[in-house]
Amino acid sequence: MFESLKKKLSALRGKATEAAPEQPAAPPAQPGAPAPAAQEAARKQEETAAAVAAIGESGRKINEDDVDELLWDLEIGLLESDVALPVIEQIKEGVREGLLGKRVDRKFTLDQVVEAALRNAIGSVLKKSEFDFDEFVRQHEKPVVIMFVGINGTGKTTAIAKLSNRLQKMGLTTVLSASDTFRAGAIEQLNVHAERLGTRIVKHQSGGDPAAVAYDAVDHAKAKRRDVVLVDTAGRMQTNANLMDEMKKIKRVVKPHLVIFVGDSLAGNDAIEQAIAFDKAVGIDAVILTKIDTDAKGGAALSIANAIGKPIAFLSTGQGYEDIIKFESKWMLDRLFS
Ligand code: GDP
Repeated sequence: MFESLKKKLSALRGKATEAAPEQPAAPPAQPGAPAPAAQEAARKQEETAAAVAAIGESGRKINEDDVDELLWDLEIGLLESDVALPVIEQIKEGVREGLLGKRVDRKFTLDQVVEAALRNAIGSVLKKSEFDFDEFVRQHEKPVVIMFVGINGTGKTTAIAKLSNRLQKMGLTTVLSASDTFRAGAIEQLNVHAERLGTRIVKHQSGGDPAAVAYDAVDHAKAKRRDVVLVDTAGRMQTNANLMDEMKKIKRVVKPHLVIFVGDSLAGNDAIEQAIAFDKAVGIDAVILTKIDTDAKGGAALSIANAIGKPIAFLSTGQGYEDIIKFESKWMLDRLFS
């Protein structure tokens, strides 16, 4: 993830090191000391934190030309990482504000200061993206009804199974609603997950009314005092007006407490378009980004929440039930600057 941006950062590092005075050599490793990679990561974090603190009123003035060249490199890196243009502008503005006219202690190299400003700027874009799903479910009156939307193949059904597993581990009970009655095999796929996870599924015949299935699932949850209803839905192309009407109908009938858009991080700007279309039709409350494990670019994560102004609840990082992590800006920043 963020491979292109990492390359740009490392090129910058190269440039800055040429200009910087030589640093003293690192002391030899002590026996029993932490692994070099972990040590290096910890050292880097400390350095960055120190550089953030060092940007201020005294020391060497940051040159405007340095900043312009840097912003250009950064823009290319962000574009290559599939970050959406408005987000790139926000990040650049954040970096410019963080650096222009500032002074920095001579003991820090330009690249350290740049990374610190960039980390701050990206951090503030990502910060708005966090959402505490577990807390939402814990606090909410039961049953909590959650509807999942997104186009086919993004990993919606898998994400539902993972969240059911997560909720069950939290001591909550779930009902899966097989409301993708359109795609052959979708009901069976969810059924397999329900059996594996030992949870209840409510399903009708293929081709049936998806809203009726969801209604029955909620009804069942109320009658059996189940905690959370997870509603799977169909996902043929988002431009299909019928699909959006179907989503609106399900929403009208079961009044979900949460609508989660599931987007494939590999789809880049297409994922953003899809999110906007679903948001317009049914209103999205939060996002799950899938296939992060195979995403070399990372831009979708930076852009999607920003584009629709909604937070990212989870990142899906593989095909196993445990491969889902709560989205935290720190997690992503650490990956970018590792
Ligand atoms: P749906 O059509 O949106 O319900 O998508 P599925 O849940 O059926 O997933 C489509 C494919 O993507 C399946 O082969 C999943 O195993 C795979 N998949 C889902 N999430 C992830 C993920 O986070 N990482 C990877 N590598 N594959 C995933």
